Amino acid sequence: MKKLINNPLQVVPEMLEGLVALHPGLALLDGENVVVRADPNAGAQVALIAGGGAGHEPAHAGYVGPGLLSAAVSGDVVTSPSTDAVLAAIRAVAGPAGVLLIVKNYTGDRLNFGLAAEIARADGIPADMVIVDDDVALPTGEGTAGRRGIAGAVLIHKVAGAAAAAGLPLDAVKREAAAAIASLGTMGVALSPCTVPAAGEPGFTLRPDEIELGLGIHGEPGVRRGRIEPADALVTELVSRILDDRGIERGERVALLVNNLGGTPAMELAIVARRAVGLLAERGIVVERAWCGSFLTALEMAGCSISLLRLDDERLARLDAPASAPAWVRGSGPASVGRPRLPVEGVAAPRHDAGRPANEGLVRVLGAVAEALRQAEPRLTTMDREVGDGDLGISLARGAAAILRELPALEVEPSAALRHLSLSIRRSVAGTSGPLYAMFLLRGAGALVGAGAAPDAAAWARALAAGCEGVMALGGAQAGDRTMLDALVPAAEALQSGLCAGRPWHEALAEAVAAAREGAARTAAMAPRRGRSSYLGDRALGHVDPGAEAVAIWLAAVQHALAPSGA
Ligand code: ADP
Ligand code: MG
Repeated sequence: MKKLINNPLQVVPEMLEGLVALHPGLALLDGENVVVRADPNAGAQVALIAGGGAGHEPAHAGYVGPGLLSAAVSGDVVTSPSTDAVLAAIRAVAGPAGVLLIVKNYTGDRLNFGLAAEIARADGIPADMVIVDDDVALPTGEGTAGRRGIAGAVLIHKVAGAAAAAGLPLDAVKREAAAAIASLGTMGVALSPCTVPAAGEPGFTLRPDEIELGLGIHGEPGVRRGRIEPADALVTELVSRILDDRGIERGERVALLVNNLGGTPAMELAIVARRAVGLLAERGIVVERAWCGSFLTALEMAGCSISLLRLDDERLARLDAPASAPAWVRGSGPASVGRPRLPVEGVAAPRHDAGRPANEGLVRVLGAVAEALRQAEPRLTTMDREVGDGDLGISLARGAAAILRELPALEVEPSAALRHLSLSIRRSVAGTSGPLYAMFLLRGAGALVGAGAAPDAAAWARALAAGCEGVMALGGAQAGDRTMLDALVPAAEALQSGLCAGRPWHEALAEAVAAAREGAARTAAMAPRRGRSSYLGDRALGHVDPGAEAVAIWLAAVQHALAPSGA
């Protein structure tokens, strides 16, 4: 057993102390595992008490507060509280309006709460009790212990709490609670067991691929064991059974509670909720309010339960009525699937101005870049596999495909073309290279704003330098860190200094390509400090950085594409 506890025998008092420490609105009764409101309602309203064995947190103490419970009585883990603990709670919170005990249908709870109510009445305190038995996995009927009370009890607390807060007398609060119980059904599915701290080992076992439908919150047997199925199939089975059992029909309105048994990730719970809402919509049932979370658990048991409570306007108002307790959240809704999705804010492709000459030069260069990257895919894949994860080849091939796809849209001013290409690369290339190249192009586009339809070589050199700055700003790397920058930065510097020295642009470009090649080659001697290769440390030594090699490849393609007409 591995648990964050101190002493298996002290888990309940220590847990309650923790809860009360966090919530000034709660207090503990001295010497009892009973949590009450710190501001006891002056007795004007009917008091509500729930409880049972511990291990179902946040139930029950998490529901103590205005509009909900007046007190929660906790037994030991999965053990009914004693009659005297219940009696202490009754004496602490009951006024002349009396007290209603909301008890889940377990023999121990019925006996202890029932005896406490009897003693209270003998003492002159009006006390009554309702039994929650919402588990539709079990048969009803004579000669059985009846159905268990499980997660749906939380909604009963709320309905009764709102009725009491509205000032109704005890018999009316009881009637509303009982009517709600008759309209409530719950069923669960367990994926893994739980361990009671004092027992030290799981209460039952499930094989890795096994689940149990209808399992109780203490590990009592369910209706069937079977292999794990897709969530949608399991939810369909649970919901269908509740609907059949409770006779809930098309056109009716319900509250839906998707409850975590303790060990289920919120992700899975939301997937369950999605199907539950969808299925109810298919059956023509209106989900007025929905909850999805941990409401009544079974320690760390993985799995969930689904509860449906039939609603009319009055009961819906009870669920919506103001309440405040550590574990209570207002229900969301109405819940529905298939609401139209909001459109993604798109950027329209730049439009070619028919009056202007098409930007053939840039389109030709980009076509050559795409072709070179496509051809280099196997080599870059191998290089990235040696020092990274092997996806650079395919990533840049995707980039190449994006370029080719967008070529017709790129016959516009270079600034607009690079801007559009940045968006397209950003959407089609993942990993590290995607955002870095998108940034490279975006900054390059920015540097070309105002440079017109045919920027001169100096403008292109400024764009290349701006692109490098962008990659550094976004990725946090510098030349020398063994990244694409070790090819890009020397190339940008060579281009600029060649042009400054007055050499023809094609000579300066040739120097830039050479600088990129040399820069890439030098990375073989550098220890990686950025990106995935950095985890390799010295083991990357002797290998050229694939990102830098890719720069040398596409820059050479640029030069080659410009050479025939330019040189
Ligand atoms: P990953 O698979 O690690 O997400 P890619 O395979 O898309 O990344 O790209 C790997 C290349 O990205 C490396 O070879 C390196 O050149 C480059 N790179 C990694 N980190 C950075 C960075 N912070 N700045 C610039 N380039 C980087
Ligand atoms: Mg990679």
